[in-house]
Amino acid sequence: RVDGKLIDGKAMAAKLREAIGEQVAHLHTHHQVTPGLAVVLVGEDPASQVYVRNKARQAGEVGMQSFEHRLDASVSEQALLALIDQLNQDPAVNGILVQLPLPDHIAETRIIQAIAPAKDVDGFHPINVGQVAIDGQGMTPCTPLGCKLLLEHQLGDLSGQHAVVLGRSNIVGKPMANLLLQANCTVTVAHSRTHDLPAICRQADILVVAVGRPGMVKRDWIKPGAVLIDVGINRIEEDDRTRLTGDIDFQSVQDLAGAITPVPGGVGPMTIACLLLNTLQASYQQLNLPFPD
Ligand code: NDP
Repeated sequence: RVDGKLIDGKAMAAKLREAIGEQVAHLHTHHQVTPGLAVVLVGEDPASQVYVRNKARQAGEVGMQSFEHRLDASVSEQALLALIDQLNQDPAVNGILVQLPLPDHIAETRIIQAIAPAKDVDGFHPINVGQVAIDGQGMTPCTPLGCKLLLEHQLGDLSGQHAVVLGRSNIVGKPMANLLLQANCTVTVAHSRTHDLPAICRQADILVVAVGRPGMVKRDWIKPGAVLIDVGINRIEEDDRTRLTGDIDFQSVQDLAGAITPVPGGVGPMTIACLLLNTLQASYQQLNLPFPD
């Protein structure tokens, strides 16, 4: 019933990974280089463990080398900084990702700033944040990049669309707003202090929701025909099972929306594919090779 409206992030991510795999093979054949992604996990957070496992596995599947570093939750900030320094120097490592959140005794900003900007495949280093804001040329955070690719696939040119971004985190909302602005959207950013959220959201031709509240966006928040991107990943315990659900009340909006990403199977797979894309791009840059279109 909603098949035509579903934005299939899983399928698009598979296509993107296939294209990345070809580029990885090209680098290997013509330049004897295998892109390398280092993934650092501190502690035992179950969701982070799943993310890190998936990232390392998918890197391997496209032919990249992955280097996993699992550190005890009690590791000192100094020891983590020393590891990052070592990865910064290592020519086999083209991309470095430190899985967030970090334990409280480690300052996230210090760790992010220690990563060499050229290897910062999460795009969280201030140099990349600034560069993306200035001209979109920096390493772009994976989740917003994935959302933008899904939107362009669905709508083509985004020029002139009114995009509402619900959420203003540094990893999703803010960079998303910047990317949409660069794509010539008219952008509204809404958050927990915004008055009358439903009225703001109803103005949206494109609505990107990254809040972390299951089913928060309801039917009467949606303009008919709007394209909805649900970034939220919420774990709901139900009948001894964990179910993943988004921030949009999918059932209530599905017939009204022009198109919508499911959870799971929407933004999540694109996020990891974009991490691989960033790693590939970083490899080309470090080799001083032009990145193919
Ligand atoms: P944060 O908690 O960092 O940010 C949440 C944002 O939502 C904040 O800007 C906050 O506003 C806003 N917010 C919270 N409550 C409300 C409310 N009641 N009304 C309006 N706005 C509200 O979350 P993230 O951006 O890191 O993640 C958001 C969601 O996306 C989570 O479910 C996360 O799991 C998921 N996620 C999914 C990814 C994927 O690959 N699919 C990747 C990253 C995240 P304020 O700033 O005012 O506090």
